[in-house]
Amino acid sequence: MKKIGATLAGGFFLYNIIPTFIMQKISKHVIKKTNEAGVLLTFDDGPNPAYTGELLDLLNKYKIKAMFYVVAQKAAQHPEFIQRMHREGHVIGIHHHTHTSSFLLSPFQLKKQLQKSQEILQHMIGEPVLFYRPPYGHFNASTAWIAKEYYLMTWSGMFGDWRSKTAQNSLLQNLHHHVADGRIYVLHDCGKNFGANEEAPHFMLQALSQFLNDAKEQGIILTDAQAWAKKYRQDKSTLPS
Ligand SMILES: [Zn+2]
Repeated sequence: MKKIGATLAGGFFLYNIIPTFIMQKISKHVIKKTNEAGVLLTFDDGPNPAYTGELLDLLNKYKIKAMFYVVAQKAAQHPEFIQRMHREGHVIGIHHHTHTSSFLLSPFQLKKQLQKSQEILQHMIGEPVLFYRPPYGHFNASTAWIAKEYYLMTWSGMFGDWRSKTAQNSLLQNLHHHVADGRIYVLHDCGKNFGANEEAPHFMLQALSQFLNDAKEQGIILTDAQAWAKKYRQDKSTLPS
């Protein structure tokens, strides 16, 4: 029994933990920062009819183009949000079909998650989705190969906004404190995943609203996600493979 346990633990470590460490800390293929001035805003886990519309209104008010890493199954239930994101110039990326950690997915299952997401989202926006952020930032040993046609993105600013208390108590302060050129912030417009609070996006939106107001007054730059993504694609296509 002990041997089986050790083998399983070893397998988990090799398949999940080491690849995640390499992708997050070492790999140059994972985007963690931009080369642009200001902070790029990204939002995970939506769309969520309770909050995504409000978030889009807020971004609209300040003329900010952001990135949305959406869960395709939810997108299929609320295509109107995906179409609105696209119409208003935001960049849409894949955050799996069902928000399942890649730690729990075989290469075949991971491929299915990406394929299904692509099918659903491409059909809605009329063009292929190019960016991919795995849920929880979890990679496995097959990610680099299975997702080779995608630009992988993680983040360089994450503040626990999926917890109501954190979003209420420290999010605004953190949004200000970590401002730096090239930073990629990740926030969440759905609080229904494991470990999150369902109302947390309400408090995230309050903090974000104040931050964007302050940013306008203080001249803090919010990177234009659409312009950045376009430039990134062009730079990539001219690089020798
Ligand atoms: Zn997520």
